[in-house]
Amino acid sequence: MAEQKQETKVALNWIDGQWCDGERHGDSINPATGEIIGRYAQAGVAEAQRAIAAARRAFREENWKQDRLLRARVLNRMADRFEASGEALARLITTENGKTLEQARFEIGIVPLTLRFNAALALTDHGHAAQVEPGQLSMVLREPVGVAGIIAPWNSPGALMVRSLAPALAAGATAVISLPRQTAQVNALMAGIIAGTEGLPRGVVNLFTGGHEAGNVLVESPDVPSISFTGSTRTGRAISATASANLKRLGLELGGKTPVILFDDADLDAALPKVVEALTVFSGQFCMTGSRLLVQRGIAERVRDELSRRLEAVKVGPGLEPGVEMGPLIDRSNVERVNGMVTDAIAAGAKVLVRGGPVSEGDLARGAFYRPTLLEVTDSSLDIVQKEVFGPVLTLQLFDTEQQAVVLANDSEYGLAASIWSRDIDRPLRVAREIEAGTIWVNDWAVLYDQFEEGGFKQSGQGRMRGYAVIDDFVEFKHIALRPGVVET
Ligand code: NAD
Repeated sequence: MAEQKQETKVALNWIDGQWCDGERHGDSINPATGEIIGRYAQAGVAEAQRAIAAARRAFREENWKQDRLLRARVLNRMADRFEASGEALARLITTENGKTLEQARFEIGIVPLTLRFNAALALTDHGHAAQVEPGQLSMVLREPVGVAGIIAPWNSPGALMVRSLAPALAAGATAVISLPRQTAQVNALMAGIIAGTEGLPRGVVNLFTGGHEAGNVLVESPDVPSISFTGSTRTGRAISATASANLKRLGLELGGKTPVILFDDADLDAALPKVVEALTVFSGQFCMTGSRLLVQRGIAERVRDELSRRLEAVKVGPGLEPGVEMGPLIDRSNVERVNGMVTDAIAAGAKVLVRGGPVSEGDLARGAFYRPTLLEVTDSSLDIVQKEVFGPVLTLQLFDTEQQAVVLANDSEYGLAASIWSRDIDRPLRVAREIEAGTIWVNDWAVLYDQFEEGGFKQSGQGRMRGYAVIDDFVEFKHIALRPGVVET
């Protein structure tokens, strides 16, 4: 069976059908307590190269790329396995990256859906054929690109890795996946779930815990023609520069600074709890965190008062504890970083509505906890408005007119998502058309479906994940023009 044996203790890497060590070992830390929960082996350059060679061999020699039925079956079986291990995986995610158990269950609940949708794509994504002139027949084949390099972050290791892996496999590509050290225990558990899937040929999926160096091997290698990356805009730019020099296919899902726009006629009883959720899910460490609240002036007072009360009441604590609404940040260095951004913003003129900040009393002081923070600002150029905080820090800005709301919403280098709240029928659609973002919710937040494309405008990314477009990152188009025989007349 493929699950890594418990007695090994060190979370290993799955390369070419085997559990492998790495170039160094490290400790996995529970961010809620600061305790060491295990050891892991981090892959280096050598392991990444071995994984690429394995995926390349599998692409050439296995019947994976020719057999759609096999791919669909394997993807569905993989979904079954993630379902069967969902609770164990969710608990480990909570223990290792800190999000609440409810949020971890939600994340892992998405995984089988993504795999099953892509199982369907494996069967239905094909080219077309046409006779353009007499005596001729043309066809376009959608052929798998080869080895797909997949690099994902720690904030939702399951859902984000599978979001890239499932379409790669559906297309007939083989995969090398680099996941970060912050979720090394989760990475190994997921590798075991994937590796134990009946019918998955050796070398088709290789998954390791890697850092910049191992990830960069994928980006530089001429044997990896497609890179699917989820992470920060800064890293995305670096990867894009290297990958473009090698003319690679590139899917990038990067940072965000999601505006939540409350118009005077919004249903605030529905909106305000969502504003809190949009800030506190994964402790604000979510690319789609609602981090910029834009409020029409007529409802400013009610929003300030009620939102402040709600944010102060958010129950912060270890994610496995019942009733906890917000877990810790990923580590203490991020607590320092987030707090530094808040301190700078206050010094630059941001008005404190809720200070929140690092938790330094009681048991929680051992962990990386940061309470929700609300700052009112008038100057959009402040870093706290423009830069991704990746923590539970919300800025509040006022506007008078619909046009001003659009200008404020678009005053960002990011364009991942936006949320609009209004009881009107026409206005949200009108505003949605003006906003430069890949996903827009009306009277809601963070609704995502595998059937619908997800991705960023501007510096939030390139290409699309999910939806029907996702598979394009992993296929080549090949036109074959046939002249079956010259007809003598
Ligand atoms: P990060 O960019 O530091 O790291 C992401 C991944 O890239 C990690 O696996 C890391 O090991 C790897 N990596 C880093 N440098 C590399 C390099 N030079 N070459 C190859 N691989 C490299 O991001 P992070 O801090 O782990 O994650 C948080 C960021 O991810 C935030 O900006 C967030 O908005 C973004 N994110 C985006 C989405 C989305 O769907 N748009 C989803 C989740 C997170």
